[in-house]
Amino acid sequence: MSASDLALFGGPKSVTLDPGDLFTWPIVTAEDEEAVLAVLRRGGMSGTDVTKQFEAEFAGWMGTEFALGYPSGTESLRGAMWACGVGLGDEIICPSITYWASAAPAQQLGAAVNFCDIQRDTLCLDPADLEHRIGRRTKAIVVVHYAAHPADMDPILEIARRHGVKVIEDVSHAQGSLYKGRMCGTMGDVAAMSLMSGKSFACGEAGMLVTSDRDIYERAIAYGHYERTGAPSNYNPPDQQITNADLKLYSGIPIGGFKHRMHQLSSAMGRVQLRHYPARIVEIQRALNRFWDQLDGLPGLRAHRPTQWPDSTMGGWYFARGLYRAEELGGLPCARFTEAVRAEGVGACGQGANYPLHTHNVFHTADVLGAGKPTALAFTERDVRQGPGTLPVAESIREICIGVPWFKHDVPEQIAQYAAAYRKVAEHADELR
Ligand SMILES: *Cc1c(COP(=O)(O)O)cnc(C)c1O
Repeated sequence: MSASDLALFGGPKSVTLDPGDLFTWPIVTAEDEEAVLAVLRRGGMSGTDVTKQFEAEFAGWMGTEFALGYPSGTESLRGAMWACGVGLGDEIICPSITYWASAAPAQQLGAAVNFCDIQRDTLCLDPADLEHRIGRRTKAIVVVHYAAHPADMDPILEIARRHGVKVIEDVSHAQGSLYKGRMCGTMGDVAAMSLMSGKSFACGEAGMLVTSDRDIYERAIAYGHYERTGAPSNYNPPDQQITNADLKLYSGIPIGGFKHRMHQLSSAMGRVQLRHYPARIVEIQRALNRFWDQLDGLPGLRAHRPTQWPDSTMGGWYFARGLYRAEELGGLPCARFTEAVRAEGVGACGQGANYPLHTHNVFHTADVLGAGKPTALAFTERDVRQGPGTLPVAESIREICIGVPWFKHDVPEQIAQYAAAYRKVAEHADELR
């Protein structure tokens, strides 16, 4: 091969086929349209009947006792944090590499965020960086199954249980992912997730909380679901018989002052999406596994998938990433590698993932509650803020991972072209340095 083989230097592009609907998501059919129109035509947008059906079906699929709909993933995380007892002067622990909503609601509750590092291979919370962060006021650990990869839950749960700290799973990327045969979102005390249109489980703008802990469920209802405390329901028995006496006291007005009702055009679409989701993610897994199998053994690049554990999967493979290892390509910078792959016709090959949250000003200087000082230290008994240089793996995120195509269909000839693009660039690495 000569240097001109690389599209970056004028060679032929690896990807020539029209992708068609290869990347289209969510998949919306007449069935979604009919369900949404039925709610629209009868003016049922602000009710809870469709949402309660969706909740019951979602809980059934996840294998939890309860599910509770939200207008967004962010609000479901806020509800989960409050339900776990996070309040003034408390702390939560959260991986630095995640979307801001995994952490930011804690500050609105008057709590501080102690960010921890991630693992280079899973891109999820590193259990080895966890225990020393637990203090007297640590109430919850937010575990993110990042980019659909299950976090290593066994050691995390063991540490959390030993210290009496609640575990909140953020499943926004990983609906349907399995960790050693267990569904992500069913292992901690409670899980919360986004169902917005860009996510793997997509039904508009919505979120979902799931738990098998009745007290957490009742607290989440009391916090932001007015009219559901004490209101009869055909689908969620605890609505009829809230057992927590403290919560009964406040029936009818949400304790948090939040309105956490899901829009029923979203829950109607969610019910239809759920019917097809298990089959659709099987196809996505087949496609992405096909892609990665073709790159097996290539220097510089490896799959972000949980082959180290039995019965573990990538769910809907949301935000598909690859692990980049510059040291295997003579130190070729990630930016140069991704530039060359994009030139081959792979627009998805961006550098890195989310921004390391521990370095963001919101968690250092923002005075969210008007206390006259940064919320991160206004109420807590210690300063858990961390600047640059403290979480090395998180801070290297733009060098250790790259985007790969998020296929929605298993089309071998298309997938082969995308795999060939990465292979060609890795095999020509010395021409790029
Ligand atoms: C998208 C996302 C959220 C927030 O969900 P919204 O529905 O956008 O409010 C929370 N956590 C993670 C990890 C996310 O990716």
